[in-house]
Amino acid sequence: MTVTVRFAPSPTGRIHIGNARTALFNWLFAMNNKGRFIQRFDDTDVARSRQEFADSILYDLHWLGIFPDVTEYQSRRFEIYDAAVERLKAARVLYACYETPEELDLRRKVRRTRGLPPVYGREALTLTPEQVAEYQSDGRKPHWRFLLPNFTSDPLQPERTEVQWDDLVRGEETVDLASLSDPVLVREDGTYLYTLPSVVDDIEMGVSHVIRGDDHVTNTGVQISIFKALGAEPPVFGHHNLLTTVSGEGLSKRTGALSIESLRGDGIEPMAVASLAVLVGTSENVTAAHDLAELAGHFDPAATSKSASKFDPDELFVLNRTLMHHMSFEEARDRLIVLGISGDKAEPFWLAVRGNLDRLSDALAWWRILNDGPQEPAEFSGEDRDFLHQAFELLPEEPWNGTMWKDWTGKIREATGRKGKPLFMPLRLALTGRTSGPELSDLLPLMGREGTLARRP
Ligand code: GLU
Repeated sequence: MTVTVRFAPSPTGRIHIGNARTALFNWLFAMNNKGRFIQRFDDTDVARSRQEFADSILYDLHWLGIFPDVTEYQSRRFEIYDAAVERLKAARVLYACYETPEELDLRRKVRRTRGLPPVYGREALTLTPEQVAEYQSDGRKPHWRFLLPNFTSDPLQPERTEVQWDDLVRGEETVDLASLSDPVLVREDGTYLYTLPSVVDDIEMGVSHVIRGDDHVTNTGVQISIFKALGAEPPVFGHHNLLTTVSGEGLSKRTGALSIESLRGDGIEPMAVASLAVLVGTSENVTAAHDLAELAGHFDPAATSKSASKFDPDELFVLNRTLMHHMSFEEARDRLIVLGISGDKAEPFWLAVRGNLDRLSDALAWWRILNDGPQEPAEFSGEDRDFLHQAFELLPEEPWNGTMWKDWTGKIREATGRKGKPLFMPLRLALTGRTSGPELSDLLPLMGREGTLARRP
């Protein structure tokens, strides 16, 4: 059996780091099992779904390194769902209900006051043909509920019925079907809720493993029953924990919080996002993987915590710095060219500055400092100014070799008696205008003697 997974967001907003977690869990699972990855847009809610969001989701996935084998849209598959509805109706497990939301609400309240669980009491099954005819002549349209298999012979007498599965993430899972209302699969206007099209597609598309957030655990109990009602073997399920903000709030596609787009705009590398999205809340240390193949080696769904994990964007910067630190010139080259950093000096420049960057685009400020001098020239005390005059007098002639920096600062130390910070800090400030940054021994050869002397205060 070919392992087949799918990532199935509804295109109602930009995806965030939590959605990326789901996509990556599926992608890495497929990678580790030589499987297929289906990108499926759950866009049955035509009013809220937008093509531009689907396009942006594909863009974000590609940016993360996810390249789906196939892309499907549920909005193009309504006939297939219609056929499934007919089958369920014929099997008498999909039944018409005429209650309004207000009537249902009232019934729930009554059940609560009687100490009964607030689930739907299947009253629609007791309607006489005359009552149905009356609703219809009143112009009421039915919505359709799936009859959960939680009874022996009388649906009005539900009994504890456990649906069990061995969850890829959570281990043994159980849902009691008697604790749930029969789910509405088709609304009164004929539109589909997510539940049925998802099952129909998982069957039709040969999905072998459904990996999704643990907000779907209860759905799984229902959907396993629908798979069976449609005569199909349910896939293997895995439910990973959800990510929250540091203050514990859930992430939402609609608010754009921690969207992949905004992280990209902040200069975060895809592998920083992917590493944190996958490893946070697992027993693995959160370190920056170099690529998805390396991350796949650390990926173990069963090692994921069962409770929600807090996601701290500051950790992304820590991972980003590590990635910058180790990024080879070959990897950086094209992106540096886009910033205007090219030519013979580009490689030694990159190797000199990469250890000091929060994000790749920060290299530009250093490139400008090297080529045009400090952005804001530093202020010096009279004493430091004298010291610097003396120091610059001692600057060796070119050509410079690997010991030039050591030789120069050795001479300065001898002549001025300064050492440590009082020696290096005025030099650093004069040369770069900053109190910290790349090794001056790496920067000086890039400035050259002329460029260095031009920085004399
Ligand atoms: N459209 C559903 C969601 O975004 C998909 C859930 C699933 O993977 O089945 O939550």
